[in-house]
Amino acid sequence: MLEAIVSLGGIGLSAAILLGLASKKFAVEVDPRELEILDALPGANCGACGFPGCAGFARALAEGKVDPAACTPGGQATIERLASILGVSAKLREPEVAVVICQGDRVKAKDKYRYLGVEDCNAAQKLADGPKACPGGCLGLGSCVRACPFGAIEITKQGLAVISREKCTGCTKCIAVCPRQVIRMVPASATVHVLCNSHDKGAVVRKYCQVGCIACQICKKAAPEAYVIEDFLARVVYAHHGQAAPAIEKCPTHCIRDFIAGYPEGSTFAPSIVPTSDEAA
Ligand code: SF4
Ligand code: SF4
Repeated sequence: MLEAIVSLGGIGLSAAILLGLASKKFAVEVDPRELEILDALPGANCGACGFPGCAGFARALAEGKVDPAACTPGGQATIERLASILGVSAKLREPEVAVVICQGDRVKAKDKYRYLGVEDCNAAQKLADGPKACPGGCLGLGSCVRACPFGAIEITKQGLAVISREKCTGCTKCIAVCPRQVIRMVPASATVHVLCNSHDKGAVVRKYCQVGCIACQICKKAAPEAYVIEDFLARVVYAHHGQAAPAIEKCPTHCIRDFIAGYPEGSTFAPSIVPTSDEAA
């Protein structure tokens, strides 16, 4: 019995010594800045920076492999804090948010056929290029909603995706999953947008959508610097966004919207708040 106890004790002691030596030999040095960086990150693990989580991004930052500005959800304050930990100068970055440039829900835009498949925009798109007659219109099956780590997107009862300007952090995850390329990044300070994604000629657009852009040029005449029309589609020139409002009432199809007056019909999001002078700067 005594022999067994002594022999077990010996084995335990040897194992402890070996483990101690191994932990010293294979110890990985952790840059103390890595933990400080991790603490400064939003902790959303959203992947917007291109890493699977905040920890991977923190390590790459500490190793000088990436730029602090890659963390878009953290905003300028986080970028500045990261730059100060790393002792580098922070890049000024205009905050951006995502916008679904479509108002053609089930009531306002026609379908080519009735889709009865799985609730997934990419699956629907594979079936004859999707049920919606407009080739660029939102399919409303919520692939973007499921991709958004911040709960910033809703699908209205009439089947249209709408993004809250207040909740969006600009991570671009929704853009990556949308098969219709109907989500765009815009300056966060801008609230007036042309909500159409069709490059068809006006006569064709009128056949499938009540609220599509028909490239009639009326917006451009009302606010020449604030709009351009390219390939039969108007868009706001955000550098001159302050001049865009007069065209809203004049647009015959009402495809220009100011989110301060309200989000597209059916949205439960409260109208966008007026940008503060800090946001607009
Ligand atoms: S915006 Fe794109 S991903 Fe989202 S519901 Fe519409 S088609 Fe689907
Ligand atoms: S709406 Fe898009 S860009 Fe905005 S937080 Fe959600 S996934 Fe990111």
